[in-house]
Amino acid sequence: MNKKFENQKCYLCHQKNIEEYFPYTRDNKNIKVLKCKNCNLVFLSTFKHIQNEFYENSGMHKGTIELQNWIKNTSEDDLRRFNQFKDNIKDKKILDFGCGNGGFLLKAKKIAQSVSGLELDQGLNNYFKEQNLKVYSSLEQIKDKFDVITMFHVLEHIAKPIELLTSLKKLLNKNGKIIVEVPNANDALISIYENRAFQDFTYWSCHLFLFNEDHLRDIIIKADFKINYINQYQRYPITNHLYWLAKGLPGGHEKWNHLLSEDLNKEYIKMLKGQKACDSILASFTT
Ligand SMILES: [Zn+2]
Repeated sequence: MNKKFENQKCYLCHQKNIEEYFPYTRDNKNIKVLKCKNCNLVFLSTFKHIQNEFYENSGMHKGTIELQNWIKNTSEDDLRRFNQFKDNIKDKKILDFGCGNGGFLLKAKKIAQSVSGLELDQGLNNYFKEQNLKVYSSLEQIKDKFDVITMFHVLEHIAKPIELLTSLKKLLNKNGKIIVEVPNANDALISIYENRAFQDFTYWSCHLFLFNEDHLRDIIIKADFKINYINQYQRYPITNHLYWLAKGLPGGHEKWNHLLSEDLNKEYIKMLKGQKACDSILASFTT
């Protein structure tokens, strides 16, 4: 065992059995990626670099928010999530926790009873006003209650995810639901292909944890919710994976889009699901 980590305890299983998993994150070479040898939870060697002020000052976007590009980049996921969760948001009161540029909320607004967001990043306050979106900048400001809270790629940024989910319960109406999407620690590019270039690219100082299905289940149960489902979901097609393996670079889903066969991709994703090695995990749970 690496001596440096011998006193560190795993957040989930509380064991002191931590190993170094990857030597650095892409944006901070002083932060290591660790792994609990008991439960396989992946987490950063320090969380000290993440304070609320970090996000408030657009730390995640390095202070230069090129808003139009950002909106364009998230529009595909916003639309996909809207279609995926349509039935859950129709005529309901929605809070999107960590709403980013508000792209999902602007779509949800068309069918929901009401939509609000929470975003620590305050660089977009004027834009939210223009769009007539109610976006809180802290949990303490929220006095309302909701039917559904969505958290898309948020939980992995949170230092105490169980405690956060527990506190979100107070914001939910009876039978209220939380929908979560997180990156999968067991992504095929890591777990099957052991692609070094992808690891180099994906470990990021903002992702304090990386969860697999078991970790997510454990967190939801510890926060005392009832699980509706935990599913594997693959965002990127086979061309993205082939490109990583061939070139060690992202963007293959665009550059090699002409090679994409829908049938092949369908079968490939079926395989990934069977291996629990999709790039994302979706979970839904109720109070
Ligand atoms: Zn553990």
